Amino acid sequence: MVSRVIPVDPFDLVLFGGTGDLARRKILPGLFHRFAVGQMPQDARIICTARSAMDRAAFIELTRSSLLKFASAAKENSSALESFLQTIDYVQVDAAGQDGWDALSKALRPDMVRAFYLSVSPSLFGPIAHKLNNHGIATPQSRIVVEKPFGHDLESAKALNADLRGNFEEHQIYRIDHYLGKETVQNLMALRFANSLWEPLWNSTHVDHVQITVAESLGVEGRGEYYDRSGAMRDMVQNHLMQLLCLTAMEPPSRFTPDAVRDEKVKVIEALEPVDQSDIVRGQYRAQGEEGSYHDHSGNPQSRTESFVAIKVNIGNWRWAGTPFYLRTGKKLRARSSEIAIVFRDPPHMIFPKMEGRRGNAMIIRLQPDEGITLRNTIKEPGPGGFRLTEVSMDMTFADALDQHAEPQDAYERLIMDVIRGDQTLFMRGDEVEAAWAWADPLIEGWQDAGRTPAPYDPGGSGPEDALMLLHREGRRWREIMA
Ligand code: NAD
Repeated sequence: MVSRVIPVDPFDLVLFGGTGDLARRKILPGLFHRFAVGQMPQDARIICTARSAMDRAAFIELTRSSLLKFASAAKENSSALESFLQTIDYVQVDAAGQDGWDALSKALRPDMVRAFYLSVSPSLFGPIAHKLNNHGIATPQSRIVVEKPFGHDLESAKALNADLRGNFEEHQIYRIDHYLGKETVQNLMALRFANSLWEPLWNSTHVDHVQITVAESLGVEGRGEYYDRSGAMRDMVQNHLMQLLCLTAMEPPSRFTPDAVRDEKVKVIEALEPVDQSDIVRGQYRAQGEEGSYHDHSGNPQSRTESFVAIKVNIGNWRWAGTPFYLRTGKKLRARSSEIAIVFRDPPHMIFPKMEGRRGNAMIIRLQPDEGITLRNTIKEPGPGGFRLTEVSMDMTFADALDQHAEPQDAYERLIMDVIRGDQTLFMRGDEVEAAWAWADPLIEGWQDAGRTPAPYDPGGSGPEDALMLLHREGRRWREIMA
């Protein structure tokens, strides 16, 4: 079946930070893919800006080399590559100063959707929003897209929201969390709300607990200085894991509209119960041979920043009371693997002989490496010789299931096209971000006040021993982290 690509209307996209790492690795390749499949129209324009003095020709060469390196289709489709490069312009703008704004204004076309993508340091979000407004570049049809991190705590997130809202309306502001652009994450909503099979089971009567794991095999090499000011809680839990928790736990929205979905997500965050420090485990990877330790990579031998965190979270509402959600994320773990595991309760009465090692029913929603959903069922072990039970997985790998139906899309591709279409469903609303910080701040302050140092863990494993105990002490166990 031929994939269904619905072209978006022509637009002017201004990419601040056009020479930066994110722009070169993700945003421009994402736009190229959408162009190559015919979703981005030929008369759309991408106006890249950065501080560097360079002319359009030099920027085009830089973009060509980025695309050949990071966009798989660019090598095979040279005519699409050349046509795409025609849509690109470059304007030198000093985001923090006065230079370049008039030139940027002149480069834009009237009566066109304008999207301003701020792929720059968050300290520039406010100044850029202000200048776009002041120079009359922002129109009522404009959208502004901001990258993570959105604040460092509640206070800074509120200040950032105030800066943005002083210049744009909330319906024009797109706060990116690229986890929401992943196919499986959106499929979680389809699975829950487009089927009648699961929703009756989706509550504390039937679900024993939920595990959300985002494991990374790399350390913080290369971005240690930034990471050391942040840590796993701020870098991953407050945003990405919180979004996954919200989509798993939220009530069915009455409509699939941006505000109806986001209202339900905010209610989940507001229902989170305060977390006791005994329900938090923080860890830091330690040296092992050549590999180096967190202290080496962060350049801070005294650092108490966590490169791993595991938290037991309780949601205080009727649906989830009595069903804990366990969140864990860390660097230098066994594999790069992210998943949500819904672990169901055992049958109330078992008539069959006890099965050694039985893990029970679970639905595993895999985000990476292979996006897909697995259902673990107990069946009779085939063959004669008594009635023994065994467990099998019903596997739905999206790459196989969707092969003939859809062009694979990176999260950024989908999200950028959503910005152009004006669909905020997969973007965080201001109050949602603030609610997530209001939950995270006391946890962070709690361990800072107690002066707790993170527990050391060996690279290549599943984190500190204490994290295993978080579940063991309650008769549960984490799923193995596997590639
Ligand atoms: P980067 O340092 O590689 O690029 C920064 C860009 O900002 C450059 O193009 C630079 O020219 C431009 N810039 C800096 N100061 C400027 C000024 N005064 N005026 C105009 N332009 C200026 O950063 P990055 O890694 O591309 O990250 C960009 C944003 O995306 C940051 O907010 C970061 O937190 C976020 N982010 C990055 C990644 C990633 O994988 N790189 C992932 C998620 C979020």
